[in-house]
Amino acid sequence: MSVIANACNCNRYYDVMNDSRATHIAALVERIGRLLNTEAHTEGLLPVQWETLRYLNKANKFSRTAATLTAYLGITKGTVSQTLKTLEARRLVKKHVDRRDRRSNQLSTTAKGKKMLESDPLAITVSALDQLDKTSQKALSTSLESLLSMRLAAQDRRPFGQCRNCRFFTPDHAEGSPNYCLLLRETLSASDAGQICFEQIAK
Ligand code: SF4
Repeated sequence: MSVIANACNCNRYYDVMNDSRATHIAALVERIGRLLNTEAHTEGLLPVQWETLRYLNKANKFSRTAATLTAYLGITKGTVSQTLKTLEARRLVKKHVDRRDRRSNQLSTTAKGKKMLESDPLAITVSALDQLDKTSQKALSTSLESLLSMRLAAQDRRPFGQCRNCRFFTPDHAEGSPNYCLLLRETLSASDAGQICFEQIAK
């Protein structure tokens, strides 16, 4: 509908403009997603296998299980199981018994898996984003985080935010240092603070 046709009704005019902007952004996100997906068919891996490697490399010790990976990816257990089987067969991921719950297995990337991440196809997009100035990067990051958070909340899915931004994260606690988790009652290392967690609830 044209601007002139809506000029007599300001609210409707702004609605149409906002819809148009939102539709444009959604189409951009879709095209970028398609580009990333195409580029992630490399080194003999599929996009979901790259995403699994990245996840296991940045998730904390409470979040590296098949169940939490399934929740993060939002795909079926069967696909996750097949993905892990392939990555284990290629010795990029390994399983070990979880010391907190001996009935379940904890997952981690192997040295070979970490080496593979040096060829991560996402690096092409990281280097394009590095060309934006810091203000644009911050604005883009804040907007995309809000969008992702809204979309996940609508599907009743968890955000998997960073540990240092969690309401249970406590630096210099009497029970544990340098950091402590008030929810899981565990000491956290300095590097744990930068990892993502299934249980995270933003401050
Ligand atoms: S402080 Fe929050 S994010 Fe960190 S381990 Fe505990 S629950 Fe997870």
